[in-house]
Amino acid sequence: METQQPMPPPPPPPPPRLVRTAPSRFRRVCVFCGSSSGKKPSYQLAAIQLGEELVERSIDLVYGGGSVGLMGLVSQAVYDGGRHVLGVIPKTLMFREITGETIGEVRAVSGMHQRKAEMARQADAFIALPGGYGTLEELLEVITWAQLGIHDKPVGLLNVDGYYNSLLSFIDKAVDEGFITTTARHIIVSATSAHELMSKLEEYEPMHDGMTPKLSWEMEQLGQSAKSDISR
Ligand code: AMP
Repeated sequence: METQQPMPPPPPPPPPRLVRTAPSRFRRVCVFCGSSSGKKPSYQLAAIQLGEELVERSIDLVYGGGSVGLMGLVSQAVYDGGRHVLGVIPKTLMFREITGETIGEVRAVSGMHQRKAEMARQADAFIALPGGYGTLEELLEVITWAQLGIHDKPVGLLNVDGYYNSLLSFIDKAVDEGFITTTARHIIVSATSAHELMSKLEEYEPMHDGMTPKLSWEMEQLGQSAKSDISR
């Protein structure tokens, strides 16, 4: 009579894949940055590193469209990493001589206000790289909206090579002088590297001053009665 051989033990499960970062809470991040590249190579490197950090965390990009300056570098890095890139451009800026080529999806909007509204609506968080007037205006507007309770989305400042030190000092002075509350100061999250900034933004918890009303985004910004989804 044949004796039955015991079954060999099953092979051990494969080792868990090493994941460098936990899954992100953000699906898409809006990046504001210079339409110029800046004089120091560190600014350009930071734009590329931020793009790569978004890819690493499987986050898509929304930005102002085009390929000029740091805007081109961050969008190219995200696109090359296989993530979705959405460029939102006012029709008047769509000429190639102004914005260059846009990669990924291009969404044409009727004006600058609609562009900011659309970028903000599409994003779960905002990041400003070094930039000029356009970047500052976009950054300060989303901070103001957060202060008013229009949205609760994190706002990050990538302070490359101390570029934003004087802005941060000025904001601290405004707190000291009683023009910005300490709660509102908490809205700006800053860091010197893309990795550190993303980690801080992932952990960000909004603070509120007492009874801040949740204003309607569309009503306030666009004068439309469409359903508000900026605060999602
Ligand atoms: P700035 O910091 O003044 O260079 O302005 C950069 C910001 O303004 C970007 O985040 C864009 O949303 C917008 N912007 C300025 N210039 C351009 C351009 N030539 N093409 C597309 N967007 C631009």
